[in-house]
Amino acid sequence: MLHIVSLSKAYGKRVVLQDLSLRIPPGEIYGLLGANGAGKTTTINILCNLLRADSGTVEVCGQRLSERTKPLIGVAPQENLLYRSLTCEENLTFFASLYGLRGKNRAARVWECLKDVGLADRAKSLAETLSGGMQRRLSMAIALVHQPKLLILDEPTTGLDIEARYEVWELIRHLQTQGMTVLLTTHLLEEAERLCQRIGILKQGRLLAEGTLAELRRLIPAQEVVVVQTSEEARAIDRAQSLGFPWRRYGGDLAFWLPETLELREIITRFDGIPLESIARQPIRLEHIYLELTQH
Ligand code: ATP
Repeated sequence: MLHIVSLSKAYGKRVVLQDLSLRIPPGEIYGLLGANGAGKTTTINILCNLLRADSGTVEVCGQRLSERTKPLIGVAPQENLLYRSLTCEENLTFFASLYGLRGKNRAARVWECLKDVGLADRAKSLAETLSGGMQRRLSMAIALVHQPKLLILDEPTTGLDIEARYEVWELIRHLQTQGMTVLLTTHLLEEAERLCQRIGILKQGRLLAEGTLAELRRLIPAQEVVVVQTSEEARAIDRAQSLGFPWRRYGGDLAFWLPETLELREIITRFDGIPLESIARQPIRLEHIYLELTQH
Protein backbone atom coordinates (compact mmCIF):
# COMPACT_ATOMS: atom_id res chain seq x y z
CA MET A 1 0.00 0.00 0.00
CA LEU A 2 2.78 2.42 0.97
CA HIS A 3 6.39 1.89 0.03
CA ILE A 4 9.01 4.44 1.03
CA VAL A 5 12.61 3.96 -0.05
CA SER A 6 15.57 5.97 1.24
CA LEU A 7 13.73 9.21 1.85
CA SER A 8 15.97 12.11 2.87
CA LYS A 9 15.23 15.75 3.54
CA ALA A 10 17.25 18.66 4.86
CA TYR A 11 16.39 22.28 5.58
CA GLY A 12 19.64 24.01 4.73
CA LYS A 13 22.23 22.20 6.80
CA ARG A 14 19.68 20.66 9.16
CA VAL A 15 19.03 17.08 8.12
CA VAL A 16 15.51 16.14 9.23
CA LEU A 17 15.05 12.80 7.42
CA GLN A 18 17.88 10.39 6.73
CA ASP A 19 17.46 7.43 4.46
CA LEU A 20 13.99 6.53 5.73
CA SER A 21 12.57 3.33 4.26
CA LEU A 22 9.37 1.58 5.24
CA ARG A 23 6.64 -0.52 3.75
CA ILE A 24 3.04 -0.77 4.92
CA PRO A 25 0.96 -3.62 3.52
CA PRO A 26 -2.79 -3.17 2.91
CA GLY A 27 -4.96 -3.33 6.01
CA GLU A 28 -2.17 -2.67 8.49
CA ILE A 29 -2.07 -0.02 11.22
CA TYR A 30 1.51 1.22 11.32
CA GLY A 31 2.71 3.53 14.09
CA LEU A 32 5.56 5.95 13.60
CA LEU A 33 6.90 6.88 17.02
CA GLY A 34 9.22 9.73 17.74
CA ALA A 35 9.95 12.63 20.03
CA ASN A 36 9.24 16.24 19.05
CA GLY A 37 11.26 17.10 15.98
CA ALA A 38 11.94 13.46 15.00
CA GLY A 39 10.61 14.09 11.49
CA LYS A 40 7.11 12.60 11.65
CA THR A 41 5.24 15.60 10.24
CA THR A 42 7.92 16.14 7.60
CA THR A 43 7.36 12.55 6.45
CA ILE A 44 3.61 13.11 6.28
CA ASN A 45 4.03 16.35 4.36
CA ILE A 46 6.18 14.54 1.80
CA LEU A 47 3.60 11.73 1.48
CA CYS A 48 0.90 14.34 0.88
CA ASN A 49 3.02 15.96 -1.82
CA LEU A 50 3.11 19.20 0.16
CA LEU A 51 6.87 18.98 0.55
CA ARG A 52 9.48 17.62 -1.80
CA ALA A 53 12.07 15.15 -0.52
CA ASP A 54 15.70 15.72 -1.47
CA SER A 55 16.04 12.07 -2.45
CA GLY A 56 14.25 8.77 -2.19
CA THR A 57 11.03 7.41 -3.63
CA VAL A 58 7.48 6.92 -2.41
CA GLU A 59 4.84 4.66 -3.94
CA VAL A 60 1.19 4.62 -2.90
CA CYS A 61 -0.82 1.68 -4.24
CA GLY A 62 2.05 0.93 -6.61
CA GLN A 63 2.06 4.45 -8.09
CA ARG A 64 4.89 6.94 -7.74
CA LEU A 65 3.92 9.92 -5.62
CA SER A 66 2.32 12.65 -7.74
CA GLU A 67 -0.80 14.80 -7.95
CA ARG A 68 -2.62 11.64 -9.09
CA THR A 69 -1.83 9.82 -5.84
CA LYS A 70 -3.33 12.60 -3.70
CA PRO A 71 -6.88 11.17 -3.78
CA LEU A 72 -5.51 7.83 -2.57
CA ILE A 73 -4.52 9.42 0.72
CA GLY A 74 -6.67 10.95 3.46
CA VAL A 75 -4.99 12.98 6.19
CA ALA A 76 -6.19 14.09 9.60
CA PRO A 77 -3.57 16.63 10.65
CA GLN A 78 -2.39 17.35 14.18
CA GLU A 79 -4.58 20.46 14.35
CA ASN A 80 -8.18 19.79 13.33
CA LEU A 81 -8.88 21.79 10.19
CA LEU A 82 -12.57 22.45 10.70
CA TYR A 83 -14.81 25.35 9.87
CA ARG A 84 -15.95 26.09 13.38
CA SER A 85 -19.08 28.01 12.41
CA LEU A 86 -20.31 25.31 10.02
CA THR A 87 -22.19 22.20 11.11
CA CYS A 88 -20.66 18.73 10.91
CA GLU A 89 -22.71 18.01 7.81
CA GLU A 90 -21.71 21.31 6.18
CA ASN A 91 -18.03 20.73 6.93
CA LEU A 92 -18.16 17.30 5.33
CA THR A 93 -20.22 18.54 2.37
CA PHE A 94 -17.65 21.26 1.72
CA PHE A 95 -14.69 18.86 1.72
CA ALA A 96 -16.62 16.30 -0.34
CA SER A 97 -17.24 19.04 -2.94
CA LEU A 98 -13.51 19.72 -3.15
CA TYR A 99 -13.11 16.10 -4.22
CA GLY A 100 -15.76 16.55 -6.90
CA LEU A 101 -18.64 14.78 -5.19
CA ARG A 102 -22.03 16.20 -6.14
CA GLY A 103 -25.75 15.79 -5.52
CA LYS A 104 -27.16 12.58 -4.07
CA ASN A 105 -23.79 10.80 -4.10
CA ARG A 106 -22.28 13.52 -1.98
CA ALA A 107 -25.18 13.60 0.47
CA ALA A 108 -25.03 9.81 0.81
CA ARG A 109 -21.27 9.81 1.36
CA VAL A 110 -21.52 12.60 3.95
CA TRP A 111 -24.06 10.58 5.94
CA GLU A 112 -22.03 7.41 5.62
CA CYS A 113 -19.01 9.22 7.07
CA LEU A 114 -21.03 10.80 9.87
CA LYS A 115 -22.33 7.35 10.80
CA ASP A 116 -18.88 5.76 10.56
CA VAL A 117 -17.40 8.21 13.05
CA GLY A 118 -20.44 8.12 15.36
CA LEU A 119 -21.58 11.69 14.67
CA ALA A 120 -24.84 11.08 12.78
CA ASP A 121 -26.85 12.51 15.69
CA ARG A 122 -24.65 15.64 15.69
CA ALA A 123 -24.96 16.32 11.95
CA LYS A 124 -26.63 19.68 12.54
CA SER A 125 -24.34 20.76 15.40
CA LEU A 126 -21.80 23.51 14.77
CA ALA A 127 -18.26 22.17 14.82
CA GLU A 128 -17.35 24.65 17.58
CA THR A 129 -19.95 23.11 19.89
CA LEU A 130 -18.41 19.63 19.70
CA SER A 131 -16.16 18.17 22.39
CA GLY A 132 -12.46 17.72 21.58
CA GLY A 133 -12.97 14.02 20.86
CA MET A 134 -15.92 14.70 18.54
CA GLN A 135 -13.94 17.36 16.69
CA ARG A 136 -11.15 14.84 16.18
CA ARG A 137 -13.63 12.28 14.86
CA LEU A 138 -15.10 14.90 12.50
CA SER A 139 -11.58 15.64 11.30
CA MET A 140 -11.13 11.92 10.61
CA ALA A 141 -14.46 11.83 8.73
CA ILE A 142 -13.17 14.67 6.54
CA ALA A 143 -10.02 12.66 5.84
CA LEU A 144 -12.23 9.72 4.80
CA VAL A 145 -14.90 11.50 2.78
CA HIS A 146 -13.26 10.83 -0.61
CA GLN A 147 -12.71 7.13 0.23
CA PRO A 148 -8.92 7.07 0.33
CA LYS A 149 -6.94 3.84 0.44
CA LEU A 150 -4.44 5.08 3.01
CA LEU A 151 -5.43 7.08 6.07
CA ILE A 152 -2.72 9.17 7.72
CA LEU A 153 -3.37 10.31 11.27
CA ASP A 154 -0.91 12.79 12.75
CA GLU A 155 -1.05 12.32 16.53
CA PRO A 156 -4.74 11.35 16.50
CA THR A 157 -5.30 11.48 20.25
CA THR A 158 -2.91 14.15 21.48
CA GLY A 159 -4.76 16.44 23.88
CA LEU A 160 -7.79 14.17 24.27
CA ASP A 161 -9.05 12.82 27.58
CA ILE A 162 -9.00 9.09 28.17
CA GLU A 163 -12.60 8.44 27.11
CA ALA A 164 -12.23 10.43 23.90
CA ARG A 165 -8.95 8.62 23.28
CA TYR A 166 -10.67 5.24 23.61
CA GLU A 167 -13.37 6.37 21.17
CA VAL A 168 -10.76 7.37 18.61
CA TRP A 169 -8.93 4.05 19.07
CA GLU A 170 -12.18 2.19 18.59
CA LEU A 171 -12.85 4.17 15.43
CA ILE A 172 -9.38 3.39 14.04
CA ARG A 173 -9.92 -0.33 14.75
CA HIS A 174 -13.34 -0.15 13.11
CA LEU A 175 -11.78 1.42 10.00
CA GLN A 176 -9.27 -1.39 9.89
CA THR A 177 -12.07 -3.97 9.89
CA GLN A 178 -13.37 -2.18 6.80
CA GLY A 179 -10.01 -2.73 5.12
CA MET A 180 -8.41 0.66 5.69
CA THR A 181 -4.62 0.98 5.86
CA VAL A 182 -3.49 3.44 8.51
CA LEU A 183 -0.24 5.26 9.13
CA LEU A 184 -0.33 7.09 12.43
CA THR A 185 2.24 9.13 14.26
CA THR A 186 2.22 9.32 18.00
CA HIS A 187 4.21 10.19 21.11
CA LEU A 188 2.00 7.87 23.12
CA LEU A 189 3.67 4.52 23.53
CA GLU A 190 0.50 2.92 24.85
CA GLU A 191 -1.35 4.05 21.74
CA ALA A 192 1.20 2.38 19.48
CA GLU A 193 1.28 -0.73 21.66
CA ARG A 194 -2.48 -1.16 21.67
CA LEU A 195 -3.34 -0.18 18.11
CA CYS A 196 -0.49 -0.88 15.75
CA GLN A 197 0.52 -4.16 14.14
CA ARG A 198 3.96 -2.73 13.42
CA ILE A 199 5.83 0.17 14.91
CA GLY A 200 8.73 2.25 13.63
CA ILE A 201 10.87 4.28 16.02
CA LEU A 202 12.19 7.50 14.53
CA LYS A 203 14.91 9.64 16.03
CA GLN A 204 16.37 12.70 14.38
CA GLY A 205 15.05 11.58 11.04
CA ARG A 206 16.42 8.01 11.21
CA LEU A 207 14.40 4.86 11.67
CA LEU A 208 16.17 3.22 14.60
CA ALA A 209 14.06 0.07 14.62
CA GLU A 210 10.88 -1.34 13.19
CA GLY A 211 8.73 -4.39 13.71
CA THR A 212 5.89 -5.96 15.60
CA LEU A 213 5.89 -5.51 19.36
CA ALA A 214 7.18 -9.06 19.72
CA GLU A 215 10.03 -8.34 17.30
CA LEU A 216 10.92 -5.11 19.06
CA ARG A 217 10.88 -6.90 22.43
CA ARG A 218 13.67 -9.14 21.20
CA LEU A 219 15.92 -6.07 21.03
CA ILE A 220 16.06 -6.12 24.83
CA PRO A 221 17.92 -9.15 26.22
CA ALA A 222 15.58 -9.58 29.16
CA GLN A 223 12.48 -11.57 30.05
CA GLU A 224 11.04 -8.96 32.35
CA VAL A 225 11.72 -5.70 34.17
CA VAL A 226 11.66 -5.49 37.94
CA VAL A 227 11.19 -2.06 39.49
CA VAL A 228 12.35 -1.93 43.09
CA GLN A 229 12.14 0.56 45.92
CA THR A 230 14.96 0.36 48.38
CA SER A 231 16.67 2.63 50.88
CA GLU A 232 20.00 1.10 49.77
CA GLU A 233 20.08 1.70 46.03
CA ALA A 234 23.87 1.63 45.70
CA ARG A 235 24.06 -1.82 47.29
CA ALA A 236 21.15 -3.07 45.21
CA ILE A 237 22.86 -1.87 42.03
CA ASP A 238 26.14 -3.55 43.07
CA ARG A 239 24.30 -6.78 43.71
CA ALA A 240 22.46 -6.57 40.38
CA GLN A 241 25.74 -6.05 38.59
CA SER A 242 27.31 -9.07 40.29
CA LEU A 243 24.24 -11.11 39.30
CA GLY A 244 24.52 -9.93 35.69
CA PHE A 245 21.22 -8.01 35.79
CA PRO A 246 21.51 -4.75 33.81
CA TRP A 247 19.98 -1.82 35.70
CA ARG A 248 18.14 1.21 34.41
CA ARG A 249 16.20 4.23 35.70
CA TYR A 250 12.68 4.71 34.42
CA GLY A 251 11.37 8.14 35.47
CA GLY A 252 13.66 8.04 38.50
CA ASP A 253 12.63 4.49 39.51
CA LEU A 254 15.36 1.90 39.82
CA ALA A 255 14.76 -1.13 37.63
CA PHE A 256 16.62 -4.33 36.79
CA TRP A 257 16.35 -6.42 33.68
CA LEU A 258 15.92 -10.09 34.43
CA PRO A 259 17.59 -12.25 31.78
CA GLU A 260 15.36 -15.17 32.84
CA THR A 261 11.96 -15.41 34.48
CA LEU A 262 12.34 -15.87 38.23
CA GLU A 263 9.88 -16.60 40.99
CA LEU A 264 9.36 -13.68 43.37
CA ARG A 265 11.08 -15.55 46.21
CA GLU A 266 14.08 -16.22 43.94
CA ILE A 267 14.37 -12.49 43.24
CA ILE A 268 14.21 -11.75 46.98
CA THR A 269 16.82 -14.44 47.68
CA ARG A 270 19.21 -12.97 45.13
CA PHE A 271 18.97 -9.59 46.83
CA ASP A 272 19.31 -11.17 50.26
CA GLY A 273 20.50 -8.67 52.90
CA ILE A 274 19.28 -5.65 50.94
CA PRO A 275 15.99 -4.14 52.14
CA LEU A 276 13.52 -4.12 49.23
CA GLU A 277 10.45 -2.08 50.20
CA SER A 278 8.62 -3.00 47.02
CA ILE A 279 9.13 -5.11 43.92
CA ALA A 280 7.01 -4.52 40.82
CA ARG A 281 7.40 -6.97 37.96
CA GLN A 282 6.62 -5.78 34.45
CA PRO A 283 6.75 -7.38 31.03
CA ILE A 284 9.08 -5.71 28.52
CA ARG A 285 7.00 -2.83 27.25
CA LEU A 286 7.36 -0.46 24.34
CA GLU A 287 8.41 2.22 26.85
CA HIS A 288 11.52 0.19 27.77
CA ILE A 289 12.39 -0.53 24.15
CA TYR A 290 11.83 3.07 23.08
CA LEU A 291 14.02 4.47 25.85
CA GLU A 292 16.72 1.91 25.16
CA LEU A 293 16.85 2.74 21.47
CA THR A 294 16.56 6.48 21.76
CA GLN A 295 18.74 7.09 24.83
CA HIS A 296 21.41 4.40 24.91
P1 ATP B 1 6.38 17.02 16.54
O1 ATP B 1 6.08 15.78 17.29
O2 ATP B 1 6.84 18.14 17.40
O3 ATP B 1 5.30 17.42 15.58
P2 ATP B 1 7.85 15.91 14.31
O4 ATP B 1 8.45 14.57 14.54
O5 ATP B 1 6.59 15.97 13.54
O6 ATP B 1 7.71 16.69 15.68
P3 ATP B 1 8.87 17.64 12.26
O7 ATP B 1 7.79 18.66 12.40
O8 ATP B 1 8.82 16.75 11.06
O9 ATP B 1 8.98 16.76 13.58
O10 ATP B 1 10.27 18.42 12.30
C1 ATP B 1 11.50 17.76 12.12
C2 ATP B 1 12.62 18.79 12.20
O11 ATP B 1 12.54 19.65 11.07
C3 ATP B 1 12.55 19.68 13.42
O12 ATP B 1 13.86 19.87 13.90
C4 ATP B 1 11.98 20.97 12.88
O13 ATP B 1 12.45 22.08 13.62
C5 ATP B 1 12.53 20.99 11.48
N1 ATP B 1 11.69 21.74 10.54
C6 ATP B 1 10.40 21.47 10.23
N2 ATP B 1 9.94 22.33 9.29
C7 ATP B 1 10.95 23.19 9.04
C8 ATP B 1 11.12 24.29 8.15
N3 ATP B 1 10.13 24.69 7.35
N4 ATP B 1 12.32 24.90 8.13
C9 ATP B 1 13.34 24.48 8.93
N5 ATP B 1 13.26 23.43 9.77
C10 ATP B 1 12.09 22.79 9.82
